[in-house]
Amino acid sequence: MPHLRHLLLPTVAGGLLALAAGLSPAAPPTYNGPLFDTHLHYNDDAQAPHPLPDVLGRMQRSGVQAIVANSRPNDGTRALAAARDETRAAGVTVVPFIRLYRNRADYTGWFADDSIYRMVQDELARGTPAGPYRGIGEFHLYDSANADGPVARRLMQLAQDRDLVVLAHVDDVAIDKLFAHAPKARLIWAHTGIGGVPVERVRELFDRHPGLVGELSYRPGLTQDDGQLAPAWRELLLRYPDRFVIGSDTWINQRWQYYEELMRGYRVWLGGLPGDVARRVAWENGAALFGMN
Ligand SMILES: [Zn+2]
Repeated sequence: MPHLRHLLLPTVAGGLLALAAGLSPAAPPTYNGPLFDTHLHYNDDAQAPHPLPDVLGRMQRSGVQAIVANSRPNDGTRALAAARDETRAAGVTVVPFIRLYRNRADYTGWFADDSIYRMVQDELARGTPAGPYRGIGEFHLYDSANADGPVARRLMQLAQDRDLVVLAHVDDVAIDKLFAHAPKARLIWAHTGIGGVPVERVRELFDRHPGLVGELSYRPGLTQDDGQLAPAWRELLLRYPDRFVIGSDTWINQRWQYYEELMRGYRVWLGGLPGDVARRVAWENGAALFGMN
């Protein structure tokens, strides 16, 4: 049947080409399991443009099944924690953290401000409708010397004593300083070096501090043009598959606008990792921090 062969050949060739493209390492399938957003803010200025059904819808459509909620002020976290029916319906578990900031002014002085320490203790005693607070942060240290501030030191010790996870936006020098106050603390390093500290130095810190976990939003150099991990980062994640997590960092409303796109971006490079590693970074490492698995 020469005529049939003639008709089929281009189709077969096209199919083979498509198959080859599908198997190419440049385009692995995207990760399609659950995500744990370990760095989420629901700040006061987000709540009017993005009411609860809006943000929960964005999480649900993104396959985000748990969040670390920390908001300025803590009312935003409380709103998420209080919406038991809505979060359950969206399939989202809320893990509440105590934010150190009542307002923008607190960003730059919290580490030496005793009233912040008292606020943390009051919040801890108060708890949330979703259960007790599980962590402290996100806090910022724009000058790593402030990691030795009296309130920074006491909060690290409190976290270690009460088994609270710390979420810290700091540089590599501050990581060493914070762990010096509380060597057994568990600390999520927001952005894992947002200033672009070299990956070798990041690795050194991971080797030294077993309680260190890296959150990867905004990390410069993490991915390449094709959306996959840069080789050095892939190597580090494979070396420490239990020590990395993902997050949205919805610090401004624009991040809410692009929430689903952000999560799709994570799914692209997660898909390039071995399946078990992808699942750990996407979900299990976050769940393990809070005894959820
Ligand atoms: Zn943040």
